[in-house]
Amino acid sequence: MIETLRNTRDLPDHALAELLETPDLSLARRLEASAREVCLQVKGPRVLVRALIEHSNMCRNNCLYCGIRRGRASVKRYSLSPEEILGCCARAWRDGVHTFVIQGGENPVQARALLPVVKEIRGRYPHAAITLSLGELPFELYSAFKEAGATRYLLRHETANPEHYASLHPAGMTLESRIGCIKELKRLGYETGMGMMVGSPGQTTRNLIEDLRLMQEIRPHMIGIGPFIPQDGTPFENCPPGSAQTTLRLISILRLMFPSANIPATTALAVLLPGGKEAGIRAGANVIMNVYTPETERLKYDLYKGKTSRNV
Ligand code: SAH
Repeated sequence: MIETLRNTRDLPDHALAELLETPDLSLARRLEASAREVCLQVKGPRVLVRALIEHSNMCRNNCLYCGIRRGRASVKRYSLSPEEILGCCARAWRDGVHTFVIQGGENPVQARALLPVVKEIRGRYPHAAITLSLGELPFELYSAFKEAGATRYLLRHETANPEHYASLHPAGMTLESRIGCIKELKRLGYETGMGMMVGSPGQTTRNLIEDLRLMQEIRPHMIGIGPFIPQDGTPFENCPPGSAQTTLRLISILRLMFPSANIPATTALAVLLPGGKEAGIRAGANVIMNVYTPETERLKYDLYKGKTSRNV
């Protein structure tokens, strides 16, 4: 039985498994209340808002779960112009949202073309945080983006188990390479984010604990997790979605493990669970990411079923 829940860092694996799996709702409620309290103490009584700009859905990869994978023929591909990206930043800034998150499919050629755009954003908004989420890129490009003014980078590890990773990705993509990128981003001085999909096909509780241990080793500044949601026209289209409840418990465990991390209540959670963003905040998250991608294009950034049709 778990006595204190002030800190989940030192819990042994079996206690973490208990927190994830217990049917005892009073324990689950205690977990959530502790996480909320620590969040309030460490991050203060506020929710941070980020502007998500989905700059392109063109991707060289074929991740089995992803709705913008290269092989999904029904996707209408787009790429925002520099002016459109700057327009998104201007709207966000006017709304009081001063962190821009530029995300897209993995595409090194297009990524390189973003360098002057990042420089321009930095020039126009010296005090903004510029976050990139562009997948695995040559280290030299990570470094060039840093010089251009980017400050943060999100690169989820997706799963910390190499065999499980291989079952979610095509041959040629490896966990080792992903982790190498995450470590390099940290080394370059980026505020670095990682995280996993919860309930992806084949994932076990053991795998989730491996995710927690990997993050304890790497110590990311930001942790983004969300439930897996199947998308039509992908190899996993008939797989069941991940559990919102497990996602919420993981958010709480992560808050108690990494008190000062920035943890978003993700859109995927809100798609699976009505009121999911609020539930995520109650569980210990402190960040909301609002989509600023222009209306016409955001429908095409169709990572999982329901993402673009619900207003979350
Ligand atoms: N290409 C970039 C980021 C784009 S995808 C990269 O490689 O990091 C952003 C995140 O969406 C992914 O890291 C993945 O965790 C999540 N995602 C993709 N497909 C999903 C699905 N079917 N269900 C839930 N989350 C998904």
